[in-house]
Amino acid sequence: MTDKYAKPVLNIDHYAVVGNPIAHSKSPLIHSAFAKQTNQEMSYERILAPLDSFEATIKELVAQGYKGVNVTVPFKFKAFNLCDMFTERAQAAGAVNTLTFKDGRISGDNTDGAGLVRDMTHNLKHILHNKRTLLLGAGGAAEGVLHPLLACELDGLVIANRTIEKAERMISRQVGALNQLSASTYADLNNPFDIIINATSAGLTDTELPIPNMVFAKDCLAYDMMYGRETPFMTQARANGAQVADGLGMLVEQAAEAFYIWRGVRPDTKPVIEMMRAL
Ligand code: NDP
Repeated sequence: MTDKYAKPVLNIDHYAVVGNPIAHSKSPLIHSAFAKQTNQEMSYERILAPLDSFEATIKELVAQGYKGVNVTVPFKFKAFNLCDMFTERAQAAGAVNTLTFKDGRISGDNTDGAGLVRDMTHNLKHILHNKRTLLLGAGGAAEGVLHPLLACELDGLVIANRTIEKAERMISRQVGALNQLSASTYADLNNPFDIIINATSAGLTDTELPIPNMVFAKDCLAYDMMYGRETPFMTQARANGAQVADGLGMLVEQAAEAFYIWRGVRPDTKPVIEMMRAL
């Protein structure tokens, strides 16, 4: 055992978020608020894992008696390979964001999709059933939300990505849902959509996605998974009359789902979303 991480204190369950970089992560604030609200004795901290030793970091946390961790960029795929067992949605995504350590075994789940769907349906009051849906991006975040989105019985789902081969690969793995799915480049998009989800990281560099204005149908919900800034996608959607949402609600909802897996208690997310918006 090393001194690299906080020494576990007896009688308190320890959790963490592991990523690289990690200093920006808001997960400790969210989980602390959940713990206070539900009277749970636990700690939750940020842990920076070196890019080349994620596995060793997790093994050390297990040895120290941690009960579980959230996993963020860029380790969600590596975390999947460490698991002894998975939920169906994690298996479908091939990536995990929630690890639970119990009886010497690691179980993996992916709560990103459940968080997104809950934010859109419960908080933003949108019905997803029968909606023409466009998913922008084919990275880890897009993979994580695909299976839960398909379970909502949409009216088709188009995945558009700069590198179209990645969108095609994602689709080829969804054998049970091939008739609902198609891949596209941005330039080839030529239909309106009721729901558009931006799962790219283009907003990080203020890069505009080359999508035509006509993709925003009347009453479209344009959802950007990024939070804390107005992205060019959000600006374009607003200019085309769409209802626009950022990913803060998803962030809190995916955390609530992880908290429920670990603690068996479902926190009330509304006050926590309000608290995070006010920061
Ligand atoms: P990845 O690095 O795995 O994927 C990035 C995606 O963005 C790829 O599809 C990539 O396209 C695309 N992309 C990146 N730059 C550009 C660009 N300049 N123009 C067009 N496309 C671009 O990242 P993640 O999938 O893990 O994360 C994506 C976003 O989702 C991040 O901003 C992250 O913060 C957010 N997120 C939010 C969550 C929340 O709870 N709100 C949860 C998880 C993620 P290509 O394949 O062609 O390279």
